[in-house]
Amino acid sequence: MSTETSREAAETPGRGTDAECEHVLARVHEFLDHEVDTATGDEIRAHLSECEPCLDRFDVEQAVKSLVRRCCGNDKAPAHLRVSIMTKIQVTRETF
Ligand SMILES: [Zn+2]
Repeated sequence: MSTETSREAAETPGRGTDAECEHVLARVHEFLDHEVDTATGDEIRAHLSECEPCLDRFDVEQAVKSLVRRCCGNDKAPAHLRVSIMTKIQVTRETF
């Protein structure tokens, strides 16, 4: 006797392609630091206006960046501070 459980991975097609999102998210930091060229910047902006998950992610990065700047007066925050800010933001977002 054998019981077979075959599960098919349910694929949920999103709006943007995963590759597109990865491409954008990989450059969010550079984008915030104004280290991308104009074409890439436009690309990222265009994607963010259409893709909610990425925009959400971008918001978090931006919030962290401005908090870090306010706390430390420069761009470079210690890793532990960054992590604790990220955690706080995530907790806050989950609460609402
Ligand atoms: Zn996306």
